[in-house]
Amino acid sequence: MQAKRIYLDYAATSPILPEVIDYISEIAKTIFGNPSSTHAEGRIAKSFLEEHRKTISSLLKCNSSELFFTSCGTESNNLILKSSVSTLGVKRIISSPIEHSCNLQCFKWLQKEYKTQVDFLKVNEFGQIDLEELESLLHDNSQKTLVSLMHVNNELGTMLNLEETGHICRKHHALFHTDTVQGIGFFPYNFSELPIDFASGSAHKFYAPKSCGFAYINNQNILEPLLHGGSQERSVRAGTENLIGIGAMSKALSYCYADLENRMTHLEQLNLQLRSLLSKQFPDILINSPWHASSPKILNVQFPYFEGIELLTIKLDIEGLSVSGGSACASGAETASHVISQIRPDHPGKAIRFSFSHLTNSEEIERCVSILAKVIH
Ligand code: PLP
Repeated sequence: MQAKRIYLDYAATSPILPEVIDYISEIAKTIFGNPSSTHAEGRIAKSFLEEHRKTISSLLKCNSSELFFTSCGTESNNLILKSSVSTLGVKRIISSPIEHSCNLQCFKWLQKEYKTQVDFLKVNEFGQIDLEELESLLHDNSQKTLVSLMHVNNELGTMLNLEETGHICRKHHALFHTDTVQGIGFFPYNFSELPIDFASGSAHKFYAPKSCGFAYINNQNILEPLLHGGSQERSVRAGTENLIGIGAMSKALSYCYADLENRMTHLEQLNLQLRSLLSKQFPDILINSPWHASSPKILNVQFPYFEGIELLTIKLDIEGLSVSGGSACASGAETASHVISQIRPDHPGKAIRFSFSHLTNSEEIERCVSILAKVIH
């Protein structure tokens, strides 16, 4: 009998929880109206939509009027970045070179179309920025500036201190956008108290279906839509709302936060176990994820033995282990990681990202290391 496959790529995406699948089936059977219709079916759909907006906003501690449903994290970040420039008059963006490609590609587009000035902060070998450098760049705030920095890096797990960063932005009158796609459902957020203006979330990262997300836009800022059409989502995002996705996202997020402590403790144990087993088996590895300042869900490890990571991940896949050598891009092909190229310019393409969930067990971690040993040695 073939051994069960081991999936350690939860930062790429996660399976839908069985309880959430049950809920999806219930929604599909009972809610079919268009929330914009005024008849009874429409009103039922509208109240379902608003009930889930309230659930999610209470989990993230913000006003429900600050939450806008979108099709994914990519759309949310595009909406925030492009509309900040087109609506709010942002002329300059300060970011880092290791943001998710959906943000980096927006910056490029904004540079070309709007002549937006984009300044990148330096990052160290763990992908951490220097807040003093941010502060010194913000000293010249003659132009309206948006700082865009992700909360949890999707390849390294490295985390940003949102409080400190946001306070620096506030002090210098800069807007602050943080891509929270890898943090939502794994860390508690109080959006109302955090000094942030914009954030983003994506349902498929926390055990709900793909193609559903949200943008948090605080009440101080009003953005123009990217998609023009009807007046859904208070005219910030046209298009009939994805009720099944939104209901499932709300349910999955409620499960995440109801069991947050247990899940995080479990992730920490798995992360520590893998760090320790890998260090014993491969003494030459370098760990790219800083232990005290990263999400326990992600462990990024640099293997000094391989020139090309693609071959290694293919061999691991054949042996039944799913991990990532870069970020899973839209084409489905793994490309050399722009993040690793920044933090280890001499050794790009040799890092593997392991990412776990509460569904992962320690026996899978042991088997993962045995498979790596077999393939590498
Ligand atoms: N931002 C980060 C940090 C991500 O990890 C991802 C997905 O990998 C995205 C944005 C894009 O989210 P989506 O897949 O919902 O478009």
